[in-house]
Amino acid sequence: MNAYDIIIVGGGPGGSMAAKTAANLGLKTIFFERGRKPGEKNSSGCGLGPRLWKDFPSMMKELTPEKCPSMRAGSAARNYFVNKEGVVAGYIMNHPTESVSYEPAKSWITMNCYRSEFDPWIADFALEAGAELKTSTLITNLLKKDGKISGVVDEHNNKYEAPIVIGADGAVSMVAKQSGLRTKWALDQITVTPQYDFQASPERIDDIMGDEALAVWWSAIFPASYQVFFHDGFHQGLGNWLNKWDKNPLYYLNRVINLKYYQRLIRTLDAKPRELQSHLLPWLRYPYNTHTDGVILIGDAGGFPCPLEAEGIYPAIVTGKAAAETAAEAISADNFSKDFLSKYDILWKKTSVGEEFEAGEELYNIWKALPFSPQETMTWFVPMFMEVMGGIFDWSQPHAKRVRQIASQIKSYMPKALPFIMKYVFPLLAKIFEEDLDKMMDPQKLMSAIPKIMDLLPKKKKRRDET
Ligand SMILES: Cc1cc2nc3c(=O)[nH]c(=O)nc-3n(C[C@H](O)[C@H](O)[C@H](O)COP(=O)(O)OP(=O)(O)OC[C@H]3O[C@@H](n4cnc5c(N)ncnc54)[C@H](O)[C@@H]3O)c2cc1C
Repeated sequence: MNAYDIIIVGGGPGGSMAAKTAANLGLKTIFFERGRKPGEKNSSGCGLGPRLWKDFPSMMKELTPEKCPSMRAGSAARNYFVNKEGVVAGYIMNHPTESVSYEPAKSWITMNCYRSEFDPWIADFALEAGAELKTSTLITNLLKKDGKISGVVDEHNNKYEAPIVIGADGAVSMVAKQSGLRTKWALDQITVTPQYDFQASPERIDDIMGDEALAVWWSAIFPASYQVFFHDGFHQGLGNWLNKWDKNPLYYLNRVINLKYYQRLIRTLDAKPRELQSHLLPWLRYPYNTHTDGVILIGDAGGFPCPLEAEGIYPAIVTGKAAAETAAEAISADNFSKDFLSKYDILWKKTSVGEEFEAGEELYNIWKALPFSPQETMTWFVPMFMEVMGGIFDWSQPHAKRVRQIASQIKSYMPKALPFIMKYVFPLLAKIFEEDLDKMMDPQKLMSAIPKIMDLLPKKKKRRDET
C-alpha cells in the first residue's frame, strides 16, 4: 500500500496548485492525472486574467515565451454586435481604462496560451516542491475504511492511502460523486461548449489583429461567442447551460463561422480549422457542498468558475491553494471531519473568488438573460444599442432631427427594456453598491416615471420659421 499525507485527483491548474502548496507545507503529496501529461484532456487553450500575476507574482513571472511559446497578450478586446439578419451591426473596441489600478492589468487584458503548455508548466512547480505526479492514471474510486475516506483506487486496482483527498478532477468529478457531495449537476449548473481551433501564422495574426487578444460576439442569432487569439492560432467557441439549448450547439457555433464578416476574417487571416472540440464547464450562481469528511473539492469539481463569464483557471488555482492549506491544518490537528474542513469555506470566501460570488446570483442571472438568450433578449438589445452607437455617425438628416429619431426609436424598445432593467440590472447594481433594492427603486414609480420622461422628448420639431 502507498501511503501519503494528501492525495489530489486531477493534474489541471487547480490540482497542480494544491500539490505545490501541500508539498511546500511539508506534506507527503501525490497527484494523479489521467492524461499522458497535464493539459492533454482539456480545452486546448485559455485566456488568463491579470489577477493571477497580482496574486501569484513570483510564480507568474516565470511564465515566459520560452516555456509557453503559444503565449499572446493583448491590450485590446473587441465586442461585435450581430443583428437578427446575421449582419455585424457594429463593434466596440476597448483597452484597459484609466481606473485600472495595477500592472500588468494596465498593459494587457488577457494572456492567452495553450493548455498543453500551461498545465505542464504549473505542474512542474508541484514537482519542484517535492510532490509526486502519476500520469496516465485514471482514479476510479475512493477507498473507505470504517466508513471514512482513506484514499483512492486507480483503474488497475492499485490503492493509495491518505486521510484527505482533494477532488481537482474537473467538471465531471468522480471525487464529488463517490464522496456523496453531488450526484450530478443540475441542467442550469453545467454548460456544454463546442469550439473550433484555427491555425494561422503569427505574422498574419499580429499584422491584422494588432493588440487584440480577445473578442466577444454578442448576437441575436446565437448565444454570445468568444474568440481568443494565441501566438499561432485562435479559438471560436460558444456555450450555454444544458437546459437552454433548443438545437445541437454546433448549429449555433456554425452560425458564427458562416457570418459573412467571419468568413472574411478567416480569409484575411488565411486561417485553417485545426480541431473541433466540445467540453463541459460548470457555471453556478454559488458553489455549494464543497467539502465533507476527508474530502475537499476545488476548481471545476467544486463549481468555482466565475458566475459572470466562467473564467475558471484563476478560481481553480486560488481554491487549490486554500484546500491544501486547510488540509495541512487538518493533518496537524488530526481532524478530518466535515466540521473541521469547513475552514476551507472560510478561507476561499475571503479571497477574490469569494468576493466574485458575493454577487454570484445577480451576475449569473444577467448573463443568462442577456447574451445567453439570443432570441428573447438580444433581438431588441442589439438594435437598441446600435441605434445609440450608429446614430453618432449618421448624416442622413440634420443632426438634431436625427437625435429625435433615435430617441423615438429607443422609446419603442422600452416596453421590453424597462422590465429587463428592473429585473436584472437594478438587483445587480443594488448588490454591487450595497444598496437596499426596495429603496433604490420602487417598481410602480419607475414604471410610471420612465415613460413620462420619454414623453418629454419632443415628438416633432417646429420649423425655424414657425417659432
Ligand atoms: C471551452 C472552454 C474554454 C475555457 N476558457 C477559459 C479561459 O479562457 N480562461 C479561464 O480561466 N478558464 C477557461 N475555461 C474554464 C477552465 O478550463 C476551467 O475552469 C479550469 O480548467 C478548471 O481547472 P481545474 O484544475 O479545476 O480542472 P481541469 O482543468 O478540468 O483539470 C482536471 C484534470 O483532472 C483530470 N482528471 C479528471 N478526472 C480524473 C480522474 N478520475 N483521474 C485522474 N485524473 C482525472 C483531467 O484529465 C484534468 O487534467 C474554459 C473552459 C472550457 C470548457
